[in-house]
Amino acid sequence: MCVLSFRREEGNKNQDVIKKMADLLRAGATMLSERCPICGLPLFRLRSGEVICPVHGRVYIVKTESEVTRITVQGVLERLERLAAEEIARAMERGAEGIAELGKWLDVLERTERILATMKTAERARSVKEEVKDEKD
Ligand SMILES: [Zn+2]
Repeated sequence: MCVLSFRREEGNKNQDVIKKMADLLRAGATMLSERCPICGLPLFRLRSGEVICPVHGRVYIVKTESEVTRITVQGVLERLERLAAEEIARAMERGAEGIAELGKWLDVLERTERILATMKTAERARSVKEEVKDEKD
């Protein structure tokens, strides 16, 4: 999905990305063979060790198919969260007429946020486990 929007806004967006990549290299970052799971651009390792995408900033290098799925689901939910917020704002502008819509979108927002929070908790638990594993190695 992000790849599509990236293509649609080609032109000056593309120029920005190329400039950012050049800036990263100039700053001593290394281009990696791994690609951003969201936009497919090559990732860069900064001198600090942090891995970033020139468009999305900090990203996780995914190693398994389930991680890819998790990140895709998270991206979709984050978009839904934004959409719900926009629809709520729109319903509010309509005043009394928008009340029915309001309830529907508040439900969507609430559920989306709950799922995202659950995913983030699970993610934290996973990264703690990985740290423990790294220490053992
Ligand atoms: Zn990206």
